Amino acid sequence: MMKAYDSNCIFCKIAQGEIPSEIVYQDEKVTAFYDLSPKAPVHILIIPNGHYTDLNDCREEDAALLGHILLAAAKIAGEKGIGETGYRVIVNDGPDAGQTVFHLHYHLLGGRPMTFSV
Ligand code: AMP
Ligand code: ZN
Repeated sequence: MMKAYDSNCIFCKIAQGEIPSEIVYQDEKVTAFYDLSPKAPVHILIIPNGHYTDLNDCREEDAALLGHILLAAAKIAGEKGIGETGYRVIVNDGPDAGQTVFHLHYHLLGGRPMTFSV
């Protein structure tokens, strides 16, 4: 069953169309939209439409939803022309990872070579 809407959450409001964003993909399970402050030429956020604060908030019953988000990332990457040049998918979960918005989101980044540092 889909998680509830949280009326205090900015990403819930984006998924419901209550605040504007540049949506690139949406279906009954997920919404994808451009990040307001892009870190790469392509920087898109993919979120579940229901409110999960982070991966720790997910359960076995959510496995198909989480897989669906990754498949959406690959599909959107192809549509945005970075399917072959390459892309990165990131989840920042919790304080050490620098999570700032507490509605689970996957960053899809590409369009330039990236280094890997933590
Ligand atoms: P994180 O640090 O992983 O929690 O990332 C949160 C991301 O959400 C940042 O990259 C922000 O630029 C982005 N962001 C915050 N508010 C909005 C918004 N209203 N529309 C699009 N992106 C947003
Ligand atoms: Zn939310």
